[in-house]
Amino acid sequence: MESHKEAQPKGEFKCQLCGLTAPYTYYGQKPPNTRSIVLLEESYVMKDPFTPDKDRFLILGSQCSLCSRSVCVGTECSLFYSKRFCLPCANDNLKAFPLEIQEDMDKKKPQPKSFPSKKMDAKT
Ligand SMILES: [Zn+2]
Ligand SMILES: [Zn+2]
Repeated sequence: MESHKEAQPKGEFKCQLCGLTAPYTYYGQKPPNTRSIVLLEESYVMKDPFTPDKDRFLILGSQCSLCSRSVCVGTECSLFYSKRFCLPCANDNLKAFPLEIQEDMDKKKPQPKSFPSKKMDAKT
């Protein structure tokens, strides 16, 4: 039977925050060839290239529920709290999130590095 073709990429997912790109084979909540998996959100999904198992897949990213930018699931780019939020939106609406998430976000803010990075480049 030739009916189970390899899933063809539907397009290219691009994270609009970090620029990560990857071809996705499915967008939605129920990836094909998976046993009754329903994702919590509509996601860009690709077949896991690192395993021959047909029902393994990777979630690449999703759309921010506020600004509908495509963002990857990396913790630098988005967070999931009942919906997907890109970090800029999450930051804008930080007070709407529970304290534990706010604290989590706080930790992600770039910490001021204390090591001396200034170079005295005196070339005169
Ligand atoms: Zn990203
Ligand atoms: Zn957003």
